[in-house]
Amino acid sequence: MPQPTYISVILPLRLEWEPCYSCAFDVAPGDRVRVNFAGKEYIGTVDRTGIEPEAGLVSQGKIKPVTKVEDSLSPVFPEEIALWKAVAEYYMCTIGEVYKAAYPAVKIQNEETQARMDAQAKEKEASRLRLKAEKARAKISSLEERLARKHEALANARKDTVKDRLEAEAAAISAEIDRCRTEIEAAVQDTGTGQTQGQTGKAPVNDGIVLSPAQEEASARIREGFRAGKPVLLKGVTGSGKTEIYIRLAAEALNSGRNVLYLVPEIGLSRQLEYRLRKIFGDSLMVFHSAESIARRRLTAYKVRSGNGWIVLGTRSALFLPLHDLGLIIVDEEHDPSYKQDSPAPRYNGRDTAIMLAGIQRCSILLGSATPSLESAHNCSTGKFALVTLESRYHEGEDADIEIIDTIAERKKHGMRGSFSIKLIEHIAETLASGGQVMLFRSRRSFSPAVQCTECGTIPKCPHCNVSLSLHKGGSGNGRLVCHYCGYSAPYSGTCPQCGGEMRGLGAGTQKIEEEAAALFPQARIARLDSDTAQSAVYSKDTIRRFSRGEIDILVGTQMVTKGFDFPDLRLVAVMQADTLLSLQDFRADEKAAQLLEQFRGRCGRRGEKGLFVIQTSVPDHPVYRMLAEGKGQEGEELLSERKLFGYPPYTRIINIIIKDTVEQRAERMGTKLAGVLESGHPPYTLSGPYSPAVDKVADSFIRIIRLNLRKDRMLAQTKRLIMKTVTAFEVNEKYENHLAIDVDPS
Ligand code: ADP
Ligand code: ZN
Repeated sequence: MPQPTYISVILPLRLEWEPCYSCAFDVAPGDRVRVNFAGKEYIGTVDRTGIEPEAGLVSQGKIKPVTKVEDSLSPVFPEEIALWKAVAEYYMCTIGEVYKAAYPAVKIQNEETQARMDAQAKEKEASRLRLKAEKARAKISSLEERLARKHEALANARKDTVKDRLEAEAAAISAEIDRCRTEIEAAVQDTGTGQTQGQTGKAPVNDGIVLSPAQEEASARIREGFRAGKPVLLKGVTGSGKTEIYIRLAAEALNSGRNVLYLVPEIGLSRQLEYRLRKIFGDSLMVFHSAESIARRRLTAYKVRSGNGWIVLGTRSALFLPLHDLGLIIVDEEHDPSYKQDSPAPRYNGRDTAIMLAGIQRCSILLGSATPSLESAHNCSTGKFALVTLESRYHEGEDADIEIIDTIAERKKHGMRGSFSIKLIEHIAETLASGGQVMLFRSRRSFSPAVQCTECGTIPKCPHCNVSLSLHKGGSGNGRLVCHYCGYSAPYSGTCPQCGGEMRGLGAGTQKIEEEAAALFPQARIARLDSDTAQSAVYSKDTIRRFSRGEIDILVGTQMVTKGFDFPDLRLVAVMQADTLLSLQDFRADEKAAQLLEQFRGRCGRRGEKGLFVIQTSVPDHPVYRMLAEGKGQEGEELLSERKLFGYPPYTRIINIIIKDTVEQRAERMGTKLAGVLESGHPPYTLSGPYSPAVDKVADSFIRIIRLNLRKDRMLAQTKRLIMKTVTAFEVNEKYENHLAIDVDPS
């Protein structure tokens, strides 16, 4: 037996340090080992080998040995560990927390299952799986026929109860189809017949599309930026042909035998994109996000680990795949707030982490947006990023006209019908009459965001959160009151629990708008897209498909409808109530509202015809609308100068320390105490708080926030380490572990 050496191991735990083990086996960094920690067994990843342990510990025999080397698990690539370290350092969490996110327990179990099958069992298993796959294939075709029949019935159905039933049945069939597909994929992989090589060395993309001179010029400038080793920001209005450029750059990387990562903020956004990429890249395209089945995610990880020529279309979690040989990373809609993970740690931003990953992999990175984040715009102006712009839309067409409707003034003139102004109703009628489609955006799902007693004024709140309950109407009964924060729900009787008085809804959510639209336009085919209807991914996929085929006239929805889709006959888009976008507590609110409105505006009039963008608001003279109307990207500069003036990011860095406690007074007291500690001795940052966020109690935890504002200078990394140390010491001294979280660059 060789002399034991000492190694450090990364464990899926929130540890400030990497524990040391003695190891009698021959291991290298990245190998997976089974070790004991505090009485429990874990699979960890070897970080450093041949280290010097503390002499005292060795002589006391306190260093434990590695139990087992998990040979059957593929080693982690050095690039993966490098990324975990970078993320932990930047986002002020532990490497264990990043490791846990990258290799969640289910993933490891899966790898083990696969490894345990020995050759003989595998052979027997293989023939069983082949049979299973065949059966699944046969089943899919009969299910697909049934699904088609349901959809036909659905298109003809009039009554809501019938529609609800048919929709549920269709969703169930779709889910069954999905399950069969997964079964086939898993079988293909386990029998070893899955390919491990994607598209490499193939001819250039051949889809009949020739880049326009403007697109060629932009591509050349993008390559220039890549050669200079800079992240490139491609700024171009929706429809300017950015995606066509991405596709060609991706094909180049694949053809040279490398892999490509194509990030999107949310998967709902990427459905149309998936069809488009699938047509070009075929089986070399893999889709990765947390809602994919475990079997499918395992297959993706397995393929990218072992082969080249893959293009992965994924959300931020795809950054932690075992990626190697990356040739290009694309971050589409780079400004989108959904790139940020709020909880749990690592609280990372997908765009910024992608930039770190590109640095580690030494690969090119392209960010794209019609409305770049102020962070990226700022990085372009300082020369950190290269900026490339596409000025005009590919298909002739102009920006939609904007019409702002003052709902208060209209109400005074009796010009409102429920949530709709008569002006908007007229625009919708005209659009429908001319064969166009309409999209209506409302930021709140539900029937009513709150309900109130007409007698005593009671507004029912969630027993676990400090928010009012939303009314959701269901297929039967009066519907339910639902908490959008913790998921609590209770039946709604329509009478006040306090005084027995009659309740009525306050305001209109998407569900009510859909109902109102149906009453106003009885001839129109109307559908809704929000996270309630999209619970079944198949259903939302189907809604989008039907809308793009012109089988739906009016689509009502939340943020989901504002981005990503391309519908040629969409001629009118309207924001039902824009005021909710302009929250006062959030310094990013104006930026986010401007981006969302600009994106939504870009949805319509993409094919020559000029579209119309209607905004209903009670504050028509808000600067965001003026910026939007003046247009042409000036809003970025105006918002940036405001940020500079008030010392906000991107000119400074913000770090939030979040205090959570089931006892409100203790959250308050500990917050004040921690703020005192952080503020003592002229620290290199300014501090505010502890303050209560807009929703200061979620799932029985009271929340307080301390906000630190740091100058961006050479001392930044050091200052962050200092803060981390102070917070950790506070946790230990006050025995206040598991109550504090650090959020760097909060969204
Ligand atoms: P963006 O990603 O900037 O929103 P897209 O790449 O989706 O824009 O392009 C908008 C539309 O124009 C798409 O339907 C796309 O296929 C089409 N298009 C873009 N460039 C070309 C081209 N060079 N030839 C033909 N069609 C193009
Ligand atoms: Zn709740």
